[in-house]
Amino acid sequence: MVENSADPNADLHAAALLSFEHLARFAAESLYTEKQREIDFCLTASTHLNAFAYASTDQEPTPYDFIAVCGGAIWTAFDLFNRVFAHPGNFPHVGNAALETAPSPTNLTTNVLAGNHKIILPRCPIRRVCAVLFTEICTNLLFAHELTHLQQGHLEFVRETYGQNHIDERDAPESIEFRRNRQALEMAADTGAVRIVIEWACRKAAFLHPQLQSLPEEVRVARTTAFGNFETTINSVSLALYMHYRNFDNEWQWWNADAATHPLPAMRMVASIFNIQAILATHTEHGYEPERFLKNSDKIIAKAEEAFALITGEPVNDKMIKSVAGTRLSTDEAILLRSHWASLKPSLRQYRRGPIYGG
Ligand SMILES: [Zn+2]
Repeated sequence: MVENSADPNADLHAAALLSFEHLARFAAESLYTEKQREIDFCLTASTHLNAFAYASTDQEPTPYDFIAVCGGAIWTAFDLFNRVFAHPGNFPHVGNAALETAPSPTNLTTNVLAGNHKIILPRCPIRRVCAVLFTEICTNLLFAHELTHLQQGHLEFVRETYGQNHIDERDAPESIEFRRNRQALEMAADTGAVRIVIEWACRKAAFLHPQLQSLPEEVRVARTTAFGNFETTINSVSLALYMHYRNFDNEWQWWNADAATHPLPAMRMVASIFNIQAILATHTEHGYEPERFLKNSDKIIAKAEEAFALITGEPVNDKMIKSVAGTRLSTDEAILLRSHWASLKPSLRQYRRGPIYGG
């Protein structure tokens, strides 16, 4: 059910597939440098926030890698960012926030197509385009995460070591040892995803500059807001990253961290902040110092949590902010996971499609 009047973007799935094609081509050219494999992908009709990866076995005639992204992953991100920008209290400097009326508070859900969940759209055209742009970043992060599982040889590793023939993002392994390894693989997949999406976002920003003036005003302003220069591009990716981690694992529990498929959202974000700082440290030509990014990331996370609070009508989750920013409670855990990943990495040498960057 649509609460505001506009169309909830019927072309969202087509746009996602176009982005996936772009990312898959980039991976094939730049990351599959040691083993060439076909990269196939599809969107499934599943309404859940989930994705799968599969690599062909030696018994299959043509070597290929395959990614399936659930349609629900796109709708979940779209719903979240529509609600973010439909609330005048969020990012009031973007577009004309005065046009917005705060939507009724709702529980966050990762299955927005089920039940009677209302679709909310921002009234300001610029904010409406911003919601689409941030959805695109989130969806690309998920796709690039699957690409990294495949590119680094995770599929062969779990098949050879544990007899599991695919990776389902929601399927937690039973053994503690596998879960620990799985969390390290997930962190590595995040690392690759962040690098790929930053590359994509920077290309998108550079690509759009020559023709920016000819675009409709709302698209031009929204794109400049999200990707206007290197710093805003990095900050936009970071905001989308945090929202994506939070959305994926909204029921996180510190005391039950080892039971999860992925590191907890706070740890994933801390690891991603390390990762982005490393990227900034090697690309000094852009002049975005890692220390400044660290300070900005604290503000980005606080903003994101304020947005979650306005959407749900609940108090701001200070615990979550402090887990990543400020006291950085999860830093030690992230460091442990990184050292675990370092011990696992050599066993992927025989399976990987090209060099493993970062981590
Ligand atoms: Zn994964």
